[in-house]
Amino acid sequence: MLLRDRFGRVIEYLRISVTERCNMCCVYCVAPENRGYEPREHLLTFEEIAEIVRVLARHGLRRVRITGGEPLVRPHVPELVRLLAQIPGITDISLSTNGILLPRYADALKRNGLKRVNISLDTLQPQKFHRVSPAGQWEEVWAGIQTALAVGLKPVKINCVLMKGINDDEVVDFARLTLEYPLHVRFIELMPIGNIGFYRRGHLFPIGEAKARCAQLGELIPVTEGEAVGGGPASVFRLPGAQGTLGFIGACTANFCHRCNRMRLSSDGLLYPCLGHGVHVDMKPALKLSPDQREQAIMEGIEQALLSKPEGHQFVTLAPHPTFRTMRVIGG
Ligand code: SAM
Repeated sequence: MLLRDRFGRVIEYLRISVTERCNMCCVYCVAPENRGYEPREHLLTFEEIAEIVRVLARHGLRRVRITGGEPLVRPHVPELVRLLAQIPGITDISLSTNGILLPRYADALKRNGLKRVNISLDTLQPQKFHRVSPAGQWEEVWAGIQTALAVGLKPVKINCVLMKGINDDEVVDFARLTLEYPLHVRFIELMPIGNIGFYRRGHLFPIGEAKARCAQLGELIPVTEGEAVGGGPASVFRLPGAQGTLGFIGACTANFCHRCNRMRLSSDGLLYPCLGHGVHVDMKPALKLSPDQREQAIMEGIEQALLSKPEGHQFVTLAPHPTFRTMRVIGG
């Protein structure tokens, strides 16, 4: 049985938040009033995460992405990669990270089965970095990107959240990066989730405008297959002669919910069928059952999440929906 929702969409991708803790505090992600963390004892163990993935994989799940918070602040994440890589059916394991801890962990992650990585970087100007991510240093992220390339993670994607008045003047510089390096830049439209106050101050920069600015550098040649495309929502292009690609993800102005193929598991065991909607199923009670009852109960939780997967996010109609949790909890 495939994981098919009420609207005919097939789920083959799970994003797993392993912690809501982060060693950065990016302006759009964490509101000042929201800086506390859940107690560590509420976290799912790696074995519990693997157990849920095993059940999903028996029904068609193929891809998983480890995220957070900053996933690499949780100790032993390479061990989770090893567990997930052993699950029959899982063909693609990726990681979203701010890159700071990659010099320490990239080797072990790759050795244990990590294929590819998305590294967040919202500015190419070191002096501007603290405006976006006050807790980190640009140079640390850049070192993480270089390490990812050096150990052979492939593709290395750069997640760049566009913010009007902050980094929209750098769109062309980011596009040029793909000419110089085998890096795959993904421009992401700001979403009303996390620090809603920041979003409301008019920082949304429409993805179509980013694409138009990139086109100033040359023809945008559509890329429809290959490692740079993956299973995500980006529309992907390459500039003539470029080593990397450019992807455009516009959750607000270029909605792609009809193509959604994913669910999200929060670090405290809630299965979210939609990032932009508060609906979720608590998987923890199922995980506490005896081994002979567990699989059935996990499957029931998954079916409930599938049944409640909304047709689309509520970013536009109800933004901000009061029950949204931040991206770092749900797993951005
Ligand atoms: N710490 C990791 C990282 O930096 O990539 C993983 C977690 S982070 C929440 C995942 C992605 O979500 C990052 O690329 C981040 O920029 C993006 N993100 C967080 N809040 C966002 C928002 N309100 N709108 C758009 N993207 C957001």
